[in-house]
Amino acid sequence: MADSIMQEKKECYITGSVSGLHCHHVFDGCRRKASDKWGCWIWLRADYHNMSDRGVHFDSKLDLQIKQETQKRFEQLYGRNRFMQVFGKSYL
Ligand SMILES: [Zn+2]
Repeated sequence: MADSIMQEKKECYITGSVSGLHCHHVFDGCRRKASDKWGCWIWLRADYHNMSDRGVHFDSKLDLQIKQETQKRFEQLYGRNRFMQVFGKSYL
Protein backbone atom coordinates (compact mmCIF):
# COMPACT_ATOMS: atom_id res chain seq x y z
CA MET A 1 0.00 0.00 0.00
CA ALA A 2 1.34 3.44 -0.96
CA ASP A 3 1.64 6.18 1.68
CA SER A 4 -1.54 8.21 2.05
CA ILE A 5 -1.61 11.41 0.00
CA MET A 6 -4.01 12.85 2.60
CA GLN A 7 -2.15 12.33 5.86
CA GLU A 8 1.37 12.09 7.20
CA LYS A 9 0.50 11.07 10.71
CA LYS A 10 -1.48 8.09 11.89
CA GLU A 11 -4.46 9.92 13.32
CA CYS A 12 -8.17 10.16 12.60
CA TYR A 13 -8.74 12.36 9.54
CA ILE A 14 -11.79 13.93 11.16
CA THR A 15 -11.13 14.03 14.89
CA GLY A 16 -7.34 13.75 15.15
CA SER A 17 -7.79 10.88 17.58
CA VAL A 18 -4.91 8.40 17.66
CA SER A 19 -6.63 5.34 19.08
CA GLY A 20 -9.16 2.88 17.69
CA LEU A 21 -8.25 3.73 14.12
CA HIS A 22 -9.45 2.00 10.97
CA CYS A 23 -7.95 2.34 7.51
CA HIS A 24 -10.52 3.64 5.00
CA HIS A 25 -10.12 3.44 1.24
CA VAL A 26 -11.62 6.66 -0.09
CA PHE A 27 -12.68 5.10 -3.39
CA ASP A 28 -13.88 1.60 -2.58
CA GLY A 29 -15.61 -1.21 -4.40
CA CYS A 30 -13.94 -1.78 -7.76
CA ARG A 31 -11.72 1.27 -7.17
CA ARG A 32 -10.25 -0.05 -3.93
CA LYS A 33 -7.06 -1.37 -5.53
CA ALA A 34 -6.42 1.94 -7.24
CA SER A 35 -7.00 3.72 -3.92
CA ASP A 36 -4.31 1.52 -2.42
CA LYS A 37 -1.86 2.10 -5.21
CA TRP A 38 -2.35 5.89 -5.35
CA GLY A 39 -2.45 6.54 -1.62
CA CYS A 40 -6.13 7.45 -1.55
CA TRP A 41 -6.82 6.18 1.94
CA ILE A 42 -7.15 7.74 5.36
CA TRP A 43 -7.23 6.82 9.01
CA LEU A 44 -10.60 7.17 10.71
CA ARG A 45 -11.76 6.53 14.23
CA ALA A 46 -14.02 3.47 14.26
CA ASP A 47 -17.21 5.49 14.78
CA TYR A 48 -16.41 7.75 11.83
CA HIS A 49 -15.63 4.69 9.73
CA ASN A 50 -18.32 2.03 9.97
CA MET A 51 -19.13 1.55 13.65
CA SER A 52 -21.91 4.14 13.92
CA ASP A 53 -24.45 5.97 11.76
CA ARG A 54 -22.16 8.97 11.42
CA GLY A 55 -19.51 6.75 9.86
CA VAL A 56 -18.39 7.50 6.33
CA HIS A 57 -19.82 4.19 5.10
CA PHE A 58 -23.33 5.30 6.12
CA ASP A 59 -23.20 9.09 5.79
CA SER A 60 -23.22 9.83 2.05
CA LYS A 61 -22.58 13.54 2.61
CA LEU A 62 -19.41 12.85 4.58
CA ASP A 63 -18.41 10.21 2.04
CA LEU A 64 -18.72 12.69 -0.83
CA GLN A 65 -16.87 15.38 1.12
CA ILE A 66 -13.91 13.07 1.72
CA LYS A 67 -13.93 11.88 -1.91
CA GLN A 68 -13.86 15.49 -3.11
CA GLU A 69 -11.03 16.48 -0.78
CA THR A 70 -9.05 13.45 -1.87
CA GLN A 71 -9.66 14.10 -5.56
CA LYS A 72 -8.50 17.72 -5.12
CA ARG A 73 -5.30 16.59 -3.45
CA PHE A 74 -4.73 13.91 -6.08
CA GLU A 75 -5.17 16.49 -8.83
CA GLN A 76 -2.68 18.85 -7.17
CA LEU A 77 -0.17 16.03 -7.38
CA TYR A 78 -1.03 14.33 -10.66
CA GLY A 79 -3.67 16.37 -12.51
CA ARG A 80 -7.27 15.77 -13.61
CA ASN A 81 -6.43 13.59 -16.59
CA ARG A 82 -4.62 11.10 -14.44
CA PHE A 83 -7.47 11.08 -11.93
CA MET A 84 -9.95 10.25 -14.67
CA GLN A 85 -7.67 7.53 -16.05
CA VAL A 86 -7.26 5.91 -12.66
CA PHE A 87 -10.73 6.34 -11.12
CA GLY A 88 -12.97 6.73 -14.15
CA LYS A 89 -15.22 9.51 -12.80
CA SER A 90 -15.00 12.91 -11.18
CA TYR A 91 -16.58 13.64 -7.79
CA LEU A 92 -16.22 17.41 -8.14
ZN1 LIG B 1 -13.85 2.17 4.80
